[in-house]
Amino acid sequence: MAFLMPSASIVQAQGTPPPESAAPETTASYTFGQALDFTLSVINTPTLANATLHVTTPQFATTYLVDFPITADPGATIQLQHTINLTEVYIQPFTTITYWWTLVDSDNISYVLPLQDIAYDDDTFAWKSQSEAGIDMYWIADGQDLGQVGMDVVTESLPRILSLIPADMSGGIRIYLYPSAEEFQAALRLTRQDWAGGHASPKLGVIMLPAENPRTAVVDLRRSIPHELSHLVLYRATADNYDNVPRWFDEGLATLFETVPNPNYAITLESLLANNELIPFNQLCTQFPSDSSDAALRAYAQSNSLMQYIQDTYGNTKIQEMITALADGANCETVTTRVLGRTVEQLTADWLGTVQPDNGFNFDTSYLWIIIIVAGFILTGLLLFRS
Ligand SMILES: [Zn+2]
Repeated sequence: MAFLMPSASIVQAQGTPPPESAAPETTASYTFGQALDFTLSVINTPTLANATLHVTTPQFATTYLVDFPITADPGATIQLQHTINLTEVYIQPFTTITYWWTLVDSDNISYVLPLQDIAYDDDTFAWKSQSEAGIDMYWIADGQDLGQVGMDVVTESLPRILSLIPADMSGGIRIYLYPSAEEFQAALRLTRQDWAGGHASPKLGVIMLPAENPRTAVVDLRRSIPHELSHLVLYRATADNYDNVPRWFDEGLATLFETVPNPNYAITLESLLANNELIPFNQLCTQFPSDSSDAALRAYAQSNSLMQYIQDTYGNTKIQEMITALADGANCETVTTRVLGRTVEQLTADWLGTVQPDNGFNFDTSYLWIIIIVAGFILTGLLLFRS
């Protein structure tokens, strides 16, 4: 019987170890994206009534528990086994899985086996790796030093990001460059995301990206690595309050660091303004379209433009103050009023005033007519003069 318990039980995992006579032996192994197997072999001395397997990861809100009632002869060897179906229970790639067993004997005395960790890495590839200043870069492609390309992008962009978002980066960062979009998407499905250009698991300090075409990889990575790094750095700057950060702020800020600007943002912004398809920023507080639909591109384009407006109008100091306020517990409703003195609606109106096409009397066109008429006179004059 498997069930879930508040993850606080990890705190209670320290306890009396079982007597040596029980001689417990455990194993844990996984097939990536498929199954996670646990076994326990224990001698029924003292006589046991129950065994429980506890499994948790940093993203589990609750600890996964499996209970095994025991009815075995004294001194017999008990073999317990449990498989977690990873197509039903989602575990993010590159996370650390922690597990332990507890035993209860017939006198109702509890014993706890030591906590153990499994590095749940995507082992379907033979990753090459390179480490530099707390950054671990993993890649696969042969014949091209993608790892160095990725590392150069990090070295160039991370100081820029940290200068705007001060954060403690001592926890390290792991970046995995997948060899194809298909394989990246397959791994990404395990994070419960169907589509994305890149993925950051801020809690794990992990970034996953496709780096498919060696010719375009440099351009792609100069856009995607700084973007995903921004999410990780903002998570470390806001810690427990990261979930309160408005998504338009988090995504818009990330787009500001893309070293190669995405040309689609400007085109999309123009069309969404012309067609009145603006998504109210209040809707982009907690939810952000994460599929490949037009809505996702629109959300990125308008968040990029609004953050650009905030940076141009109020400066980096105010963006830093907004980050400090968010780390301090401000949310979507309060962060703009607290730091900029504008509600999200007022800010949206201010920003629209700068990006919407001017519908009033067009001075440029009327001046153009004067220029044409004057030029006509000059040309006529010149022709008369020549003749
Ligand atoms: Zn993003």
